[in-house]
Amino acid sequence: MITFLNISMLVDAHCHLDSIKEYKLSDEVLPVTVGYSHSSNIKTLEIAKRLRIPFVLGISPQAAQKEGLVKLDEWTEWIKNTRPNAIGEIGLDYHWAKNEEDRKRQHTTFKKMLDLAEEMKLPIVIHARETISEILDILKERKFQHGIMMHFFSGNEREAKRAVELGSYISIVPLHSKERRKVINAIELEYLLVETDAPAIVRLPEDVKKSVEYISEVKELDFGTVATQTAKNAKKFFRI
Ligand SMILES: [Zn+2]
Repeated sequence: MITFLNISMLVDAHCHLDSIKEYKLSDEVLPVTVGYSHSSNIKTLEIAKRLRIPFVLGISPQAAQKEGLVKLDEWTEWIKNTRPNAIGEIGLDYHWAKNEEDRKRQHTTFKKMLDLAEEMKLPIVIHARETISEILDILKERKFQHGIMMHFFSGNEREAKRAVELGSYISIVPLHSKERRKVINAIELEYLLVETDAPAIVRLPEDVKKSVEYISEVKELDFGTVATQTAKNAKKFFRI
């Protein structure tokens, strides 16, 4: 059990420390590091144990597509023997799916990961690209109970509201857009998380400040209020 979360700390709810060279923890930000393939999961676990930080393990749709299904059972068993804070990132990504076979692989893997999360009673971190409605339909139909985070949310206001109705948190990256602004406005602070997805769009988990600033600007709240509440939300979601 991780006990060092200080509530004055910001929580970066989603980053990939296995892709950041020689990352050093600061006392400002608690990063939640996330795997996306078997080899990334192995590195993620090693880093998280060393830094004593929360971690998330799963097989992403991109990995499902690239690496196939042959070892899916083995990878899943491996995750089962760890104690992640959530299963992720998992989901469906039709941006990269070239054909029906790719989609099928993604679906098989996603289902397997949902079964795993249910078996382990763990929340899930969702990667959705061009698939938000479909994923929400699947989760609704399964009556998924253990908590949902829509990572790098890039849907519209209506989709965000529907996700929250299904018990999801909406995670905000520091990228400004009209749509994201509407989403921030429409969703109560109690259902928002902040993340960097570093090193994908910003360099470091410390850049999560920019997400906090974005929300405080849109919602006209002070930085401290947004920082504290989003850290509380992350603490609740990841059970830290
Ligand atoms: Zn990610």
